[in-house]
Amino acid sequence: MTSQCGEAMASASTTSPRSSDLLTWYDRHRRTLPWRAEPGETADPYAVWLSEIMLQQTTVATVGPYYRAFLERWPDVTALAVAPLDDVLAMWSGLGYYARARRLHQCARQVVEEHGGRFPETEAQLLNLPGIGAYTAAAIAAIAFDARAVVIDGNVERVIARLFAVTDPLPPAKKTIRHHADALTPQNRAGDFAQAMMDLGATVCTPRNPACGICPWRDVCQGRHQGIAADLPRFVPKKPRPQRHGLAFWLARPDGAVLLRRRPEEGLLGGMLEVPSTPWRDDVWSLDEALTHAPVAAEWLLLPGVVRHGFTHFALDFQVAAAEVSDGDGSWYRPETDQDLALPTMTRKIIRHARSQL
Ligand code: SF4
Repeated sequence: MTSQCGEAMASASTTSPRSSDLLTWYDRHRRTLPWRAEPGETADPYAVWLSEIMLQQTTVATVGPYYRAFLERWPDVTALAVAPLDDVLAMWSGLGYYARARRLHQCARQVVEEHGGRFPETEAQLLNLPGIGAYTAAAIAAIAFDARAVVIDGNVERVIARLFAVTDPLPPAKKTIRHHADALTPQNRAGDFAQAMMDLGATVCTPRNPACGICPWRDVCQGRHQGIAADLPRFVPKKPRPQRHGLAFWLARPDGAVLLRRRPEEGLLGGMLEVPSTPWRDDVWSLDEALTHAPVAAEWLLLPGVVRHGFTHFALDFQVAAAEVSDGDGSWYRPETDQDLALPTMTRKIIRHARSQL
């Protein structure tokens, strides 16, 4: 609990929170974001959709440059729909979660082919589009079309859990949180309300040290009143991520080109380029075992060190073995200078490691 929260507790009352108090705060303190319509402007559904897909599991600061680059290159959904998938993946490179980029492209095509290039306006219709789940459908319906939709992401869960002192842990408490969020969402200005909740969660009701003293709901917040706000929301303890291991084969030609391969279209990092490797498994590979998966028979040398990468559901450690050949079959690239390569962060890390060790 921060001192800011503690000082104000004496004045807390038990009146229910009102959406109008948050909207008044929003009118004064709203963040200026590249994808956000200014007051009086009409939101562009394409901009709202693009930003929401990019913001899934990524921060506002990271998304900004990507969003601007996408919008500059593909200013509307029709332009994005006709873009080659490889170009989209290359532009997405570094944002992670490449399946989202693939679905983004599919979604653009579907909007053009089935909806004449206009995003549908209802949550139910939006949910039928690739890559749009319950949160994103609600966010687009509310923000782009001002429909009354209940928009709940991690920020909103935190604010609601504190506001109503929901002490049951997430995810089981999701139903209770939805009930409160639904009751609080206004009929009018639902889009502004959703964005106000996001802003409050990002700037005031932050994960650590909520700034209760400047919160529009400080007098009615039950979590603050009870002195437990900073401890909420609670979570069911997570199981540790499993650790997996691979051994990557860095095969270089004298001219500096290296052998890369494309991952299968479906699944993790679908369609992206990678350094050829063994399968990923629970045990560390010895070089002898790994050599059956090497792309060519060569004088493989195990490089010192390990490349670490984290995926949502597991952590992955790579050892890297290196060899040089004069030429050979396969796809050869100069990853540092070739333009528009769809290189995921995992591949970039291995490239950096191999270059630094050789
Ligand atoms: Fe503090 Fe968050 Fe409650 Fe506002 S909603 S008073 S910032 S805990």
